[in-house]
Amino acid sequence: MGGRSGNAQGNGSGRLSDKKKLRTGTKLVEAGRREEWTGPVVNPPVWRASTHLYANEAERKAAQGNNVDGQFYYGRRGAPTQWSLCEALTEIEPGAFGTILYPSGTAAIVQALMAVLRPGDVLLVTDNAYEPSRTIASGILKRFGVEPRFFDPMDVAGFPDVFCDRTKAVLFECPGSLTMEVQDVPALTAIAREKGAVSLVDNTWAGPLGFPALERGCDITIMSLTKHVSGHSDVMMGSATARDERLYRRLRRTAQQMGTIVSPDDAALMLRGLRTMEVRLQRETASALTLARWLRERDEVAHVLCPLLDGSPGHDIWARDFTGGCGLFSFVLKGRTSEQRAAFIDALDLFGIGYSWGGFESLVIPFDPADIRTATPWPPAGWAVDEHLGIRLSIGLEDPEDLIADLDQAFTAMGTA
Ligand SMILES: *Cc1c(COP(=O)(O)O)cnc(C)c1O
Repeated sequence: MGGRSGNAQGNGSGRLSDKKKLRTGTKLVEAGRREEWTGPVVNPPVWRASTHLYANEAERKAAQGNNVDGQFYYGRRGAPTQWSLCEALTEIEPGAFGTILYPSGTAAIVQALMAVLRPGDVLLVTDNAYEPSRTIASGILKRFGVEPRFFDPMDVAGFPDVFCDRTKAVLFECPGSLTMEVQDVPALTAIAREKGAVSLVDNTWAGPLGFPALERGCDITIMSLTKHVSGHSDVMMGSATARDERLYRRLRRTAQQMGTIVSPDDAALMLRGLRTMEVRLQRETASALTLARWLRERDEVAHVLCPLLDGSPGHDIWARDFTGGCGLFSFVLKGRTSEQRAAFIDALDLFGIGYSWGGFESLVIPFDPADIRTATPWPPAGWAVDEHLGIRLSIGLEDPEDLIADLDQAFTAMGTA
């Protein structure tokens, strides 16, 4: 599926190198739409297939030992709908060799880690990681002999000391789930490289448009496509994109051995979402910044955790390393009870209560990371003890003035609860 070597087969490589010069919005429109895949229509059709038929026995025999990208063989190796999405994701990721698709972001994380680790290895995981990532590390990977260790995401000086000679991979997440710390990825990945460990990053928040992870030192960048690429809260998928051919082959081999394939219907939905991703992200990011600034002025709010906002943990690093953001950020209430937080959330009218994010509709969810973290405390040092009740917002495409009015009336409702 979708390695650069595969791209060269059906098409002259000249076309690909011309495409590399295009700017982001243009790439999002053009990417993956090879004529031999689309035919005379705009989008690649849904190739629903398990069996691929051969013209004759000689052709079947020739295909047998030929496990390369972009060739029909059997349904588990995909068909043009999936290949098109792989190629599109590789084209929009600066410095990428190739991309593998997975049925969810979580499947992408566990399979990418399994591709680079073996029993006896130590895996470092950032302490602000998405909770299912922590569970992968301390659950299935530990059961198969990998030792997980969690580290402070913001401590660059102490980072070399968390390695040992068995450390073979580091999982970053930038910014962190819920708490939104922005890590110094270039500095941390340089240390990991020196120690001989593979750097993987969960780059779901910014994606390649906001954070070119491979150019910032990561070896494999992972996304939950469920979020921004889908953009419409109706399909799940994940991706892992490798910087070089060796890692790409390891990802591909692992995915094939695990029987990983995504549905062509879902791939077509992802391709549809991908075309509008830049305009959606620009709108969400602008609205999120407006709301974050408004929240910062509220008496009910102790801290706004939004990488776009100065004063948020790691904002300076965001300003240095990122080219964009998204509509996801958090804030922490000042001196309220969890009952009052629930009253605030229940009073919201335009924000749905639900997991996930990156859709066209705004969402809200409470969070309490104190019990999850093991390497760093929550609330962080310097915060008052009654400043710990978190609320995460995913800002959609509604008018930000309507969202502010909704938050305003919910704060009023919370005050009288
Ligand atoms: C949602 C999410 C995932 C998992 O993606 P799924 O497609 O829901 O499995 C991984 N990482 C982050 C940061 C996420 O927000």
